Amino acid sequence: MNFEDEWLENDVAVASAPAPQENRFQSREYRPSRGRGGGGRGRNDGYWRERGNNGDVRTTQRRNYQQNDGNKKNISVPSQMVGRIIGKGGSKIRELEQDSGAKIKIGDAEGDYSSITLIGSEAAVSKVEGLINELIEDNRPAPPPKENLNNSTGSSDYLKKNESGVEVIDWDKLNAAYEQEQQNRWQNLPPIVKDFYKEDPTVTSMPPAEVARWRRANHDIQVKRTFDDKPGLRPIPNPVLTFEQAFQHYPEILDEIYKQGFKQPSPIQSQAWPILLRGEDLIGIAQTGTGKTLAFLLPALIHIDGQTIPKEQREGPTVLIMAPTRELALQIDKEVSKYQYRGIKSVCLYGGGDRKEQIKVVSKGVDIVIATPGRLNDLVMARHLNIINFSYIVLDEADRMLDMGFEPQIRKSLFDVRPDRQTVMTSATWPPGVRRLAESYMKDPIQVNVGSLDLAAVHTVTQKLLFLEEDDKEPALFDFLMNMDPNDKVIVFCGKKATATHITTELCLKGIECQSLHGDRDQSDREAALEEMVDGTVNILIATDVASRGIDIKDLTHVVNLDFPRHIEEYVHRVGRTGRAGRTGVSLTFVTRHDWAQAGELIKILEEANQEIPEELELMAKRFESMKLRREHEGGRGGRGGRGGRGGRGGGGRRDRW
Ligand code: ADP
Ligand code: MG
Repeated sequence: MNFEDEWLENDVAVASAPAPQENRFQSREYRPSRGRGGGGRGRNDGYWRERGNNGDVRTTQRRNYQQNDGNKKNISVPSQMVGRIIGKGGSKIRELEQDSGAKIKIGDAEGDYSSITLIGSEAAVSKVEGLINELIEDNRPAPPPKENLNNSTGSSDYLKKNESGVEVIDWDKLNAAYEQEQQNRWQNLPPIVKDFYKEDPTVTSMPPAEVARWRRANHDIQVKRTFDDKPGLRPIPNPVLTFEQAFQHYPEILDEIYKQGFKQPSPIQSQAWPILLRGEDLIGIAQTGTGKTLAFLLPALIHIDGQTIPKEQREGPTVLIMAPTRELALQIDKEVSKYQYRGIKSVCLYGGGDRKEQIKVVSKGVDIVIATPGRLNDLVMARHLNIINFSYIVLDEADRMLDMGFEPQIRKSLFDVRPDRQTVMTSATWPPGVRRLAESYMKDPIQVNVGSLDLAAVHTVTQKLLFLEEDDKEPALFDFLMNMDPNDKVIVFCGKKATATHITTELCLKGIECQSLHGDRDQSDREAALEEMVDGTVNILIATDVASRGIDIKDLTHVVNLDFPRHIEEYVHRVGRTGRAGRTGVSLTFVTRHDWAQAGELIKILEEANQEIPEELELMAKRFESMKLRREHEGGRGGRGGRGGRGGRGGGGRRDRW
């Protein structure tokens, strides 16, 4: 396997492996249609020993300790544990060294594992090895909970004998019974009140040409029915141009908006509020920072308050907001808590947070649940959360949720929710997967696109490229960080969690203060990392793409892409972390020859943002194109697969995902 192939394979493996906490429930799903077991995507049960490359030989070997001569011993540990071994500011590693008398040297990360060298007397080395093992064992995630089959009738009713006379589950019968039970439950629920909109006469009387002009002038908003515009559906409502036009009948909501000091609705809000207040399903496609949270939140508050049964007497919460990451869920929660309306309560459920505390809050009665898909399913399956009355559902950043492999969890969560609910979806892009979700779960949605769907990198960012070899990346990064201005604030994006850990370690050993943010860190550590970046305790954040969207650090001056992102969209999101709130920013992207497949797309983005296009990038794009042609040509003659074919497929696979 040559380097290119290996790189691509690793890349794909990492791309399809979501954060382990969330992933823990992935292979434990109640999936009647496909039968039980089978594993599905269960290769990553979130149990660290099973993570990695399907337990292939290389990984297994690497896992074994290698005894060296003398009093020097190399051990290998999961890279995600290195942070724990080092501890905050190197405190743990110092403690381990002191307790054992051995020296610990953290080596390079290789895939999911990192090597550590232990030096000292035989007893010291043995002691420190024991201490490290203890540390790792202690922190191993708990095994997944027992499967909880939702089976209220006697289970023997749903068994049948197969051809060989063995008793198996009769899934058809079970499904039919389940569906019937669902229907019965839904039928007994009160109808959902959805239409709260009284259009202001000035909005009604806006001439169509004026509406079209407003939409063009506001980031070229496009509004249409996503699927067939069937007869009987109401026409698309005109936008509201002021807060009053949307909420004059809800003065308490208006007061809350006034408290925020906003001048006017953002374009997506202008167009989304009439649609949502009218009770229609909505798909909002807009970049981050365009005010989507408030767009779906204020109508949700009115929806909760407007149902026939008072919220205190309702069984279970009314509004569900699903978000891809803990950070985004917490960010929504923060936004929600800014708006007080008629005692509406919310809770944020995310993996890594205090599960008991979350259950306690839920059981006291809440109206809005903000959740990551994994934790949501966990609590629903454990029957801590009653979803019978969810009547307003938001899938926030749907594209991101699909990228992270949450589709099964989303499908499972929505399976039980009453079908006559109102559904909202937001997304920065409109890939086929998101369209599929919309087709399955939304009813005649109206789609609002803000800005064109083409990728337009933020125009306030100067985008620089540095061409180098893989091995030169690290020295170049350290060089950059050493020469930072004291007022600079930078996020360094790494392609893999292991790289992020490794870079953090290296900086720590060099005495450069930094924080790190990636899926393997504890929730409290991740929150602290972000907090320290925001309040300026540290100026350097080493991150994976967990941080590439939504995270708002206002005075960030630089974004460094140590590894080129897997999707070109991710490039836009990463770069967009800087240059916010009217400031300018600089991005520095390291490009190696292995990134050639992305050169063409990157050129388009740079052109669009009026940036300089380095000649080297143009050459890379050309070389990639001619390689593709050559391969296609070889393929046309019945190419022999092998290395060339594999490389081609790897590249093609990545492009398919854009
Ligand atoms: P998105 O979800 O589209 O990425 P958010 O909803 O997180 O964006 O909003 C980004 C920021 O804009 C938040 O700090 C929010 O308070 C602010 N914001 C929302 N609506 C408005 C508005 N109408 N005018 C000014 N700022 C707003
Ligand atoms: Mg958002």
